[in-house]
Amino acid sequence: MSEMVPEVTDLLQHLIRNRCVNDGTKESGGETRSVDLLSSYLGGTGADMERYESVPGRASLVARIEGTDPQAPSLLLMGHTDVVPVNPDGWRRDPFGGELVDGEVWGRGAVDMLNETSSMAVAFRKLAEEKFRPRGTLAYLAVADEEALGTWGADWLLRNQADAVRADYVVTEFGGVCHQRSGNAGTRLHAFPDGQRPDQGGRGGQADRRIPGRDEHHRCVEGLRGEGRSST
Ligand SMILES: [Zn+2]
Repeated sequence: MSEMVPEVTDLLQHLIRNRCVNDGTKESGGETRSVDLLSSYLGGTGADMERYESVPGRASLVARIEGTDPQAPSLLLMGHTDVVPVNPDGWRRDPFGGELVDGEVWGRGAVDMLNETSSMAVAFRKLAEEKFRPRGTLAYLAVADEEALGTWGADWLLRNQADAVRADYVVTEFGGVCHQRSGNAGTRLHAFPDGQRPDQGGRGGQADRRIPGRDEHHRCVEGLRGEGRSST
């Protein structure tokens, strides 16, 4: 695992330097820069990749390793690529420098959530390179416009490309999400941390989310396990 740290660090630094600042306007973000970066990073692994550009400059990327069993639950690793604006006066270092200082990466988004967006990409690439074949489909989503309502990111994807991002389980910034399979699966997720409905619900197409408990995590892992890794 530790041998992957330099790769995660390098990718994180590049994501920070792309300065995908989302100020809430349609023209901001520029997440296509980071989709270009991640597409090239994941390219050549054999994973299926598709980019979805809601408006010019605001792309999201989906990479997939198809499962061997269509009935097995799918898992989505979801990280956003945008960051909120900065006031440089409040920073001791360049917020978009992505400097590595004493083992720490500095920059806007280093902990929300480009660290996870990069970690997930590195994990996904490693699995794809190893020809990992899960029972349930494994997908990676680098999504735009998370910091300002998701209009040009998650919300747009759910309205226009729901099949591309539909999943039974999602791991993202705040932990895990379980989607209840039902007739119109994919557009309604409920948020119930530890089985309780939280004070702040989701919005738009992600209104209903629920954090899976240990048993559900277990079922998820069981569903993915299946044939395991193959060297073919
Ligand atoms: Zn975030």
